[in-house]
Amino acid sequence: MQPDEFRRIGHEVIDWIADYRERLGDLPVRSQVEPGWVRSKLAPLPEHGEGFDGLLADLDRVVVPGTTHWQHPGFYAYFPSNASLPSVLGDLVSSGLGVQGMLWSTSPAATEVEQHLMDELVGAMGLPRSFVGGGVIQDTASSAALVAVLAALHRRSGKWRQSGVDGDETVYVSSQTHSSIERAARIAGLGEEAVRSIAVDGVLAMDVAELERQIQSDVDSGRRPVLVCATIGTTGTGAVDPVAEIAEVCARHGIWLHVDAAWAGPAALCPEFRGLFAGVEKADSFCANAHKWMLTAFDLSLFWTAHPDVLVDALTILPEYLRNSATESGAVVDYRDWQIPLGRRFRSLKLWSVLRWYGLEGIRSHLRGHVALASALESWVAADADWELVVPRSLSLVTIAHRDGDEATRRAMDAVNAEGTAFLTHTTVNGRFAVRIAIGAEATQEEHVRAMWEALRSSR
Ligand code: PLP
Repeated sequence: MQPDEFRRIGHEVIDWIADYRERLGDLPVRSQVEPGWVRSKLAPLPEHGEGFDGLLADLDRVVVPGTTHWQHPGFYAYFPSNASLPSVLGDLVSSGLGVQGMLWSTSPAATEVEQHLMDELVGAMGLPRSFVGGGVIQDTASSAALVAVLAALHRRSGKWRQSGVDGDETVYVSSQTHSSIERAARIAGLGEEAVRSIAVDGVLAMDVAELERQIQSDVDSGRRPVLVCATIGTTGTGAVDPVAEIAEVCARHGIWLHVDAAWAGPAALCPEFRGLFAGVEKADSFCANAHKWMLTAFDLSLFWTAHPDVLVDALTILPEYLRNSATESGAVVDYRDWQIPLGRRFRSLKLWSVLRWYGLEGIRSHLRGHVALASALESWVAADADWELVVPRSLSLVTIAHRDGDEATRRAMDAVNAEGTAFLTHTTVNGRFAVRIAIGAEATQEEHVRAMWEALRSSR
């Protein structure tokens, strides 16, 4: 494809995306296709190039019906995965530049824009100064968890790099912690028995006394506590662990504290929500997904550590072919040593596009708008005779159940999902089936939330 063809077809592609976003609200949120339907529509690979028209036609014929529309105003499932149009453009520029930013010298801008944004966000999000110079963009919170576990293992034992884990290392999560931590521990060579699941209190936050007791019992039996993961905004209900108290326990035992704020993290941009982040200043690492609720197209996870030297020392390997004078001068950061893969995209471009298009104030109003909608929904639920909140609202996440029991809740949720204008998913709270309403799509307005709520109430 020559640049002039790219220009012409690129306009068509941008038109296609713009048209898709314009008509998104009229599509059923959830894909309605049966398993295998998409593949049954796909042709064998062409022997000869065929241009772009056929592919564009297939987007409408196959891809759109086979897609669950995460940017739909009626998307309340899981957690949001914002892909604002400025971030789409930033992503396109990143692909257009086609650089690979594994080393500073393979593309200085890829490294330095990222360093700049990560340091600026420390101030904008009220994060501790100890994170300045310790920020790096990971693809996902799962990767962030893995590098945190590896850094913690390295800090705990001087011989981990040489001989790996001993088998007596332990990691602490709560029963509500995201499964990515357990997976990170498993990938790091720790068996399931090495992961302690700590009980939670009435609002589903980690029970610190129980954490302390478990750590002490592990220490007494010769095990080595390595990392505690505290969550600000659990996946199930948005519960917030008492990070400051957990940090004290970690400090007493020399344990790495990782704070997972994958979904709720962007809320730290708003001073009025900062109370949720108390104690983060004592964390060894922290992550927040810009690709969840910060208008940035998947994938982009913000990760900071107060100990970048430990992380780099844990992961660094320098093969001959990567040696270069900038690295040897010690004056640059080579982000290849801060992550699992060697190669890395110029991901910061889409974040930069978001930050410059909306400004911090624009992002704050995106967040505040959703919290206000959730608060309105909370008040409608509180005034309803049939439905109730099963846990307190957390930011823009409202978790509710029908008073008649699990079957009534599930039937109402299924009916709304079948109708197609909204998509809801569930959790269980102390064994009770509950609907999670995670408000966070850019296009969601009060009329959408009200329509979803009316549909839920009227479907039995
Ligand atoms: N942590 C929390 C609290 C989450 O809610 C999620 C996903 O919803 C994750 C981690 C995993 O995120 P990612 O897909 O970026 O790995």
